[in-house]
Amino acid sequence: MNAKQKALWRQACADLRSHLPTRKPVVVYVSDLDKDTWGEWRGRKSTHAIDIASRLFNMQEDPELFCARETLCHEYAHALCDDSGHLRESNDHSALWGLHYAECYRAVFDRFSPDQL
Ligand SMILES: [Zn+2]
Repeated sequence: MNAKQKALWRQACADLRSHLPTRKPVVVYVSDLDKDTWGEWRGRKSTHAIDIASRLFNMQEDPELFCARETLCHEYAHALCDDSGHLRESNDHSALWGLHYAECYRAVFDRFSPDQL
């Protein structure tokens, strides 16, 4: 990861944490996941654990880490669903998840707070 990518990645994590705080801390790992898996969210007793596939940080065709940041938004939306008590299962992509995903996407890619909508 070069300096620009590192800054983009850190900003994405910071934007989510500041604009969409969770009840439990979110811990993000860069992991070697199955080739068909870009990310995973796991609800733990005291944290939300998010794994992002390490290969998403090494794609020449994606110098601004769009795939890694978008996957972070996707998994963070699962954490928000879990916080709200409406998560039916870990791969729940319900309408509520979609609303949370939109908030996450805006926080990271539009760089403004959902409070300002
Ligand atoms: Zn999902």
